[in-house]
Amino acid sequence: MTIISESAPADVQSLVVDGSQLIGGEWVPSHTGETIEVRNPANREIIARVPRSDAADVEAAVQAGERAFPAWRDLNATARAGLLFRWADLIDANGVALDSLESQEVGRPSWGPYGVGGQVRFIAGQADKVQGVSLPTYSPDTVGYTLREPYGVVGAIIPWNAPGPMFATEVAAAIAAGNTIVIKPAEDAPLTPLALAKLALEAGIPAGVINVVTGYGGEAGAAIPEHPRIRRIGFTGSPQTGRTIMAACARNLTPLHLELGGKSPQVIFADADLDTAIPAIAAGITLNTGQICAAGSRVVVERSVHQEVVERLAAAMQKVTVGPWHQRVNMGPLINEKQHERVCGYIDIGKEQGATLVTGGGRPQGAEFADGWFVEPTLFDNVSPDMRIAQEEIFGPVLSVIPVDDEQQAIEVANGVEYGLVASVWTQSVGRAVRMSRALQAGQVGVNNALGAGVIGGPFGGYKNSGFGRTMGADSVLDWTQIKTVSMREAPLPRF
Ligand code: NAD
Repeated sequence: MTIISESAPADVQSLVVDGSQLIGGEWVPSHTGETIEVRNPANREIIARVPRSDAADVEAAVQAGERAFPAWRDLNATARAGLLFRWADLIDANGVALDSLESQEVGRPSWGPYGVGGQVRFIAGQADKVQGVSLPTYSPDTVGYTLREPYGVVGAIIPWNAPGPMFATEVAAAIAAGNTIVIKPAEDAPLTPLALAKLALEAGIPAGVINVVTGYGGEAGAAIPEHPRIRRIGFTGSPQTGRTIMAACARNLTPLHLELGGKSPQVIFADADLDTAIPAIAAGITLNTGQICAAGSRVVVERSVHQEVVERLAAAMQKVTVGPWHQRVNMGPLINEKQHERVCGYIDIGKEQGATLVTGGGRPQGAEFADGWFVEPTLFDNVSPDMRIAQEEIFGPVLSVIPVDDEQQAIEVANGVEYGLVASVWTQSVGRAVRMSRALQAGQVGVNNALGAGVIGGPFGGYKNSGFGRTMGADSVLDWTQIKTVSMREAPLPRF
């Protein structure tokens, strides 16, 4: 079995290892030998098979992590950083192939230069900046300080929508802190994570520091938070699975961070530069076919520009070209049948609940779309804030427009959902930008900027039900450490 379809370029094929996962530096099958199929969402063609693992494979990975941990922990932090920098360089050197591999398994068109090396490089730079503090003491013959120590073997579970960035940022932060890791990629997109793990080995990161176990969520995935010797967990995925993971962590008293869903508002005021706002918002909801946690899926617009915004958004969304990943298109298919049913289901709910369908709402027509999970970029107008399409994460290219009267109502509507991941404000007024960026309940706020992107090393994470903890910023490495307070003196204090 070839791991990747023969249509893939040779350099892509060389990145992944035939039907195996990485445990203790070895490319191995699952202990049962069973595999799962990875399919191209544009035509359902099988592009690879990866091991279908379960708790026994996770146990083997934990043991590998435990064997590697003492030497990795004790390697000096600058040397650890050096290996991570080398990994980043290899990711850059293989950027075109990695982008192509990720495009193929996720079904997205190329995103251009592959930025994951830069993310790893930023985190690598934090590895030798993990510091404790010196503490005041009751007497001059005592010294007190804190140490930041790794947990040991840690675990992570990631989704399919951006498998490379998710894998690299979780792994880099955890191992920069001196932990070893067992990570399970999503069953729909495990190939880019495996390729990145291969490059990490080539960079010289020792065997057993990064262990990648593939398989289904309810099998290999569930075994990670349930494992009593995995000392900390990072989870990125849906709120529903997040609750399951947290319950398992509660049973083992394992600390964790959760990066969950979003229902991000794009708040447009009458003074906004619509020439900038409209293309950015249309691109934001169609990038990765709307399957981005940060996607701005609600347009909260001041009534005086409502009609103009709807017309211009409809035109921008109609210009989005849809097709298979390897063609020059703006938007590919959804990832799988379940996701297709979900998105089409929400489009029906929007119509049933009385929203006005302005554009899209169907499956693109033509032979090239027949076998893939395609859906048209879809715009709903006259959405009221309590409709399900305004409240629930759709995770597809579906945009809801909600008109409001003033700034106060805009804040109430923008904040009136269970999520709080990203929020954007479009305005020319500095005063309003300052007020809004304070008032919006979100982990990231963009002013005249969709997706909250554009800064280097910005911590990323949610308010409210979008989760807790932050990935990607400088503190993401600290999150994978625990604090030890040391007090030191030659003899015990007399009164003790
Ligand atoms: P999902 O929760 O279905 O799956 C995520 C991962 O969890 C997969 O690897 C899956 O195999 C695993 N999993 C599923 N059930 C499990 C279980 N019982 N125990 C352990 N692991 C299990 O989510 P998804 O559909 O893959 O991803 C989409 C969701 O992820 C959306 O809600 C999206 O907003 C969210 N997301 C959030 C961020 C963020 O940074 N906040 C980033 C990307 C995606």
